[in-house]
This record gives sequence, structure tokens and C-alpha cells, in this order.
Amino acid sequence: MSMTLFPGTALVTGAASGIGRSVALSFAKEGCKKIVIADVHEEGLQETAVMLDREYPSVLVVEVIADVSNEEHVQKLVSKTVERFGRIDYAVNAAGIFGESGRSTELSLDGFDQITSINYRGCWLCARAELKAMLQQEPLETHDGRAGNRGVIVHVASQLGITSRSNAPAYCASKAAIISMTKSDAIDYSKDNIRINCVCPGVIDTPMTSDPPERVELLRPAIAIAPLNRMGTAQEVADCILFLCSSKATFVQGASFVVDGGYTIN
Ligand code: NAD
Repeated sequence: MSMTLFPGTALVTGAASGIGRSVALSFAKEGCKKIVIADVHEEGLQETAVMLDREYPSVLVVEVIADVSNEEHVQKLVSKTVERFGRIDYAVNAAGIFGESGRSTELSLDGFDQITSINYRGCWLCARAELKAMLQQEPLETHDGRAGNRGVIVHVASQLGITSRSNAPAYCASKAAIISMTKSDAIDYSKDNIRINCVCPGVIDTPMTSDPPERVELLRPAIAIAPLNRMGTAQEVADCILFLCSSKATFVQGASFVVDGGYTIN
């Protein structure tokens, strides 16, 4: 089923793996002809580019090695996108790490700083640069002639930003911060016709949770809390992100969209 995406330009961070890679492939499947993929992991990014080229040869793909916690990298990423494609219609900020675990008394300051600067500051740096670019552009016209959004941003937060878990104070807080920032930015940029939402995935089968494979065993209790009692797939998260970007979601603003098999019901 088509998500009725406008045929615009998409920018995806964290695109070398997992959810970000599925989002990039889904944009191509749904008709985006211009896609910028970004990540720190050069080899993985190259693999995503090869997959896009093999499955969707007519799509123009630009790869950018960028660390989302680095202001200069993020500015270059966004200016390269605008130079190459003229605009950014959809920005999905999926880059993130789980990082060092441990109770607050066991967590190092470096571990705390790394998690918060990639997950939270990274999303803020990306959103700031993406918003500045979006504010310069006119809305795309929809297929039926209505004015579309000037731009759409989707951050990847987590169910752990709504609930919590042990041994991850920095990770949980970084995701709660993304949810909060999403709401604040949604209030500020609604008048500019820019939509900003986030998704809150539950336990999803990606390298973050399954590499090394023993990690899955540690996650069994968390998986069992969700009534659906299984891991989600990166594609299931990507499908919800594409919905949030689409013309089916034009009244969805500032939402924290759970994709968690029911984990957060209770
Ligand atoms: P993943 O490890 O497969 O992908 C994360 C990607 O982010 C990797 O390609 C990695 O290289 C990239 N990345 C890490 N640091 C970066 C940086 N500084 N700059 C640019 N890129 C960087 O994991 P995933 O599960 O696909 O994670 C994607 C997002 O989903 C993350 O934000 C994660 O916190 C979130 N999330 C994942 C789960 C899960 O269970 N897998 C659950 C909730 C939220």
C-alpha cells in the first residue's frame, strides 16, 4: 500500500544499519527519488548505498560520513543535501547508541557524555540544521493540489524515554529528552507548517540488540513484558516513520508514536 509520500528529498541519519537503513530503503520504495544517507560507519553506509542502487536504480543517493554529535559535521551534512538536491522534505534522525550501561554510581562521566551527545545533542543538532533549511523552502504541492508541509522531521527516541529500565540512566534520559524536545519544537514550528514527531520503538531486532547474539537472552524479560511477546523488526519501525512523513499524517504533530508491541500499555 502506498504511504502517499510526496516525491521529495529525504535525509536519514544512522543509515548504515538497523532502523536507519530500513527507513532509507522504505523511502526509495515509497517513491522518494533523492535520498541522503549519513552515518559514522563508512562500510555499513556503503552497504546501504549498494542495496539502494540494486533495488532502486533510479533513485539518486548521496552518502555522507558524519558524526551527529559534531556540529560542523551536521552543518556540512545539511548543506551538502541542500546543495545537491535543493531542499529537505523528510529528515529522519535515527543515529544513536546504547552505550555504557550501569547504575549512575557505576557510569563514567565519559560514558554519560557519549550517550547524551550522540542521542540527545545529535538529534538537536540535526533538527536545528534541518529546520533552518526547511524554513528557507516552499511547501511541496500534494498530488491533489493541496499545499503539503514545508518539511517533516521524525526523531527516533525509545519506549525507554517513556518508561525506564535499570542500568541505563543516561540512555533513558537521552530518549526522554528527545521526546520533550520533539514537543517543544512542534509547538514552535507549527506556524511554519513543519511537522515534528518521534517514534518510540520497543525491543527491535537490529545490531544494537542482537550483536553479540547473547544480548538477546538478556533482553528476554523485556521482550516478555510486551503483550505481543516478540522483538519488532526494523521494517515495522520504518513503516511507522514513513506513515508519519506521509500525507496520511498531516494532523500528527509533536507525537511520541510507540512501536513497542504493547510494552508501554501498563
Ligand atoms: P544500530 O546500531 O543498528 O544503528 C544505529 C546506527 O547509528 C549505526 O549505523 C551507527 O553507526 C550509527 N551511529 C552511532 N553513533 C553515530 C554518530 N555519532 N553519528 C552518526 N551515526 C552514528 O541500532 P538501531 O536499533 O537501528 O538504532 C537506531 C535508533 O533506534 C537509535 O537511536 C536507537 O537508540 C533507537 N532504538 C533502538 C531500539 C532497538 O531495540 N534496536 C529500541 C529503541 C530505540
